[in-house]
Amino acid sequence: MAAVESVKRPTMECETPHFLMAQRQLDEIALEMGLNPELHERLRYPKRALIVTVPVRMDDGTVRSFTGYRVQHDTTLGPAKGGIRFHPEVNLGEVSALAMLMTWKCALMGLPYGGAKGGIRCEPWKLSAPEQERLTRRYTSEIINLLGPDKDIPAPDMYTNEQTMAWIMDTYSINVGHTVPSVVTGKPVSIGGSLGRIEATGRGVAYCTRRAVDHLSFSSEAPTVVVQGFGNVGSVAARLLHDSGFKVIAVSDVHGGIYNPKGLDIPRLQAYISEMGKVSDFPQGEAISNSELLELECDILVPAALGNQIHSGNASKLKCKIIVEGANGPTNPDADQYLHEKGIFIVPDILANAGGVTVSYFEWVQGLNQFFWSEDEVNRRLEELMGRACDQVFAMSERSGLRPRMSALRIGVSRLAEAKRLRGLYP
Ligand code: NAD
Repeated sequence: MAAVESVKRPTMECETPHFLMAQRQLDEIALEMGLNPELHERLRYPKRALIVTVPVRMDDGTVRSFTGYRVQHDTTLGPAKGGIRFHPEVNLGEVSALAMLMTWKCALMGLPYGGAKGGIRCEPWKLSAPEQERLTRRYTSEIINLLGPDKDIPAPDMYTNEQTMAWIMDTYSINVGHTVPSVVTGKPVSIGGSLGRIEATGRGVAYCTRRAVDHLSFSSEAPTVVVQGFGNVGSVAARLLHDSGFKVIAVSDVHGGIYNPKGLDIPRLQAYISEMGKVSDFPQGEAISNSELLELECDILVPAALGNQIHSGNASKLKCKIIVEGANGPTNPDADQYLHEKGIFIVPDILANAGGVTVSYFEWVQGLNQFFWSEDEVNRRLEELMGRACDQVFAMSERSGLRPRMSALRIGVSRLAEAKRLRGLYP
């Protein structure tokens, strides 16, 4: 059997640096685990990718064309699942890389899904709400053949939200002639969304943090926490950690951060932000920049803003003991290896921020059954699944000496490889 490395093929359109990075990560773990080369080859590319032109009537009466994408990396374990983002940097490579990561994340969490991602290249902040609605509805109609509760189920991602999901659900439902709530997740509760979905990712980050602290047998009664990004993920994680006795000493948003070594009063900060809009003016602490914040001495650092925040330029200055990755891809591969060697324990994104897709799964299950759970029930089940995944990843790391990121990947890839082996190759 030929090794994957020796196979020569023309470059695929998705092979941008971002995609090649995701593919290299798979290659690394495939080599480490001795993955069957045929299964490895089948996992290296997206199963399906659709590029569409989305014409939209703008408010000024003109028509503009946008480019939209939907990529399904794999559907071996069930329907494809993944967010839709609106952003000027959306491209086929980025969407394909993120779809691949969704495959590993769903497999790691034991969810019956494959990975997908989609997006529209646009500057959403320059579009009015009616323009966004027309853009969303036309995009949905262009990719409708891929969608369905048993085929591909979108969710919110960067610059999309509950309202976007409601428009997608409505457009799909009108086209098929009846209401289909389970075609999307992350929709409003009043049209079939799940209680607890909005807080799910931050809640999952908080669960993982507590599990990592227990795993490493921290002696401190009130471990100190620094959170970069105070949006949906960061603010919920900060609040839950604060409520369970951690000392959150710094947080930031796009404008900058606030630091108080005695601990910030997070409920008060949340109330302040909902009135004043930004973190850095909060009176009970000193203002700091985002780069200073990352370098603060603390027990736990939670990057929950953007990708690529921890890199070879700042990795050597980090003074935390644990990193819990709320954002997608906040640590670049060189920094990841360096920090591991330095003894910093990293809970990787595909584990730490998997709370969102896990409660999306609960939403889908509730919608299919037309039977809805209480918020306590959702949170209890989320804690159970996150705890199980953490235990599996940490145990694999201890057994194999692999860093937690590679352990998480190894668990996800092995589950998928086993399913592919059993299903065989058609025809
Ligand atoms: P959000 O838009 O609600 O919040 C983002 C926060 O980051 C805001 O406080 C913003 O001001 C801040 N920010 C933006 N640019 C920054 C910068 N340069 N420096 C510091 N802070 C900056 O987004 P979110 O939903 O909280 O998502 C945050 C991250 O988590 C993203 O990487 C996202 O892909 C990832 N994620 C989110 C979910 C989810 O369910 N929301 C699920 C998985 C992963």
